[in-house]
Amino acid sequence: MEKETLPLVSPDQVLSTLNPDGTRRWLAPRLAKGRYWKKRRVVAYVLMLLFNVLPWIKVGGKPVMLLDLVHREFTFFGVTFQPTETVIVTALFLSIFIGIFLATALWGRVWCGWACPQTVYLEFLYRPIERVTEGRFHSKGRAGVPFPRKVLKYSVFAVVSLHLSHTFLAYFVGAGEVLSWSTGSPGSHPVGFAIVWGVALLMMFDFSLFREQMCTLACPYGRLQSALVDPNSVIIGYDVERGEPRGKGKRGTEKTKDLGDCIECKLCVAVCPTGIDIRDGLQMECIACAECIDACDDVMDKIGKERGLIRYASEVELAGGKAKLLRPRTILYTALFVALLGIFVSLLGSRELSNISILRTGGSPFTALPDGRVMNLFKVRLENRNKVDRTYTIDIVEPGFTTSPEALRVELGPSETEEFQFSVFGMFDQFKDGQADLHLRVSDGVDFESITVHPMVGPKNL
Ligand code: SF4
Ligand code: SF4
Repeated sequence: MEKETLPLVSPDQVLSTLNPDGTRRWLAPRLAKGRYWKKRRVVAYVLMLLFNVLPWIKVGGKPVMLLDLVHREFTFFGVTFQPTETVIVTALFLSIFIGIFLATALWGRVWCGWACPQTVYLEFLYRPIERVTEGRFHSKGRAGVPFPRKVLKYSVFAVVSLHLSHTFLAYFVGAGEVLSWSTGSPGSHPVGFAIVWGVALLMMFDFSLFREQMCTLACPYGRLQSALVDPNSVIIGYDVERGEPRGKGKRGTEKTKDLGDCIECKLCVAVCPTGIDIRDGLQMECIACAECIDACDDVMDKIGKERGLIRYASEVELAGGKAKLLRPRTILYTALFVALLGIFVSLLGSRELSNISILRTGGSPFTALPDGRVMNLFKVRLENRNKVDRTYTIDIVEPGFTTSPEALRVELGPSETEEFQFSVFGMFDQFKDGQADLHLRVSDGVDFESITVHPMVGPKNL
């Protein structure tokens, strides 16, 4: 007897982007061009403009921002931090992270709705392109769009993604390098070519197909939201007290006299880019884009009710209470943010513009020469953090010691580093119990001079 196969259908909706049978529910959110959407659009275009022009702007001959991961050098506003300055860079990045935590504790996912590149580019670049290229077929869903229009849409997406991938990579390798990759033959830059196309394909996949799944499933920050907000955080919420019981019908009539302000038009759901119903309460999928506020405010205007049935408010305020600004988490995040920023600023202020490291090399500690001299080998690393060229000289302070090469002189451009070895010679009688102090002076001839003591090693018995 053949076994009956039951369809895998969930009785409840598991995810806003899943159909009951587990297939993807494609979202085509409507647009609510309200006051918040207009403000977000201004913010989005300013951010897009900044993203595109920053790699080309130079401060003191260097890019405004360059994250050279290969050489572990990070440039911000013309200041290059070398791998030896990990503490400063770490303090900066940690203060940014804690700043985002603080903003989340205060205003929920404000970053997601207003400034995250995923939202900015999806809602204000890719979706507008989709609406224009699909035209009147846009509302018919993916299946209803004619093939030529799909080709047109994906062609424009491809061009935009390629441009964005070039710009994105300019932050890691520099605008000049990306320009040479894009104007040269792919054969002469196979790695660069592969990276640009790889990033462009990932962008195509993300903005064409993955879309809201990035925010609801993949993004770790979205997952952290429940740990970062509390009932006093400002979120986008539905006023249950005012809206319920919800129902259709003309307000003010006998039939609707007991109903709340929500007329069950579901426009707040239709505009939601993650497909949720904000009236079900705060959900992890909400990216705080404020589209539902704009949609509902418009409805309230039309039915002559006060705006704000859905609004920016904390859960405490929505329940009729008064939200607290000073809470353990906001105090802790503020303290951490200020401390980290303070560490960053003080390290930056005390940063030496020349960094020197001189060490005796490993292996044989000394070499005794037949002419009565003792030789030690040193390794030096010089780093010029100035914005101009510098010429460094190294010389020995006390008489009796000599170096090879005799003249230790190095010219370094801005942010350049050089490593080399040199030998120091002393006579046997300059060593006491096999030790002698060597004073080395490093100077750039302008405003830097350092004298450091280095132990030389020699024979203990003459
Ligand atoms: S848009 Fe406003 S009135 Fe319409 S269903 Fe949503 S909450 Fe109710
Ligand atoms: S519930 Fe409202 S604020 Fe949240 S994602 Fe949907 S439309 Fe945006």
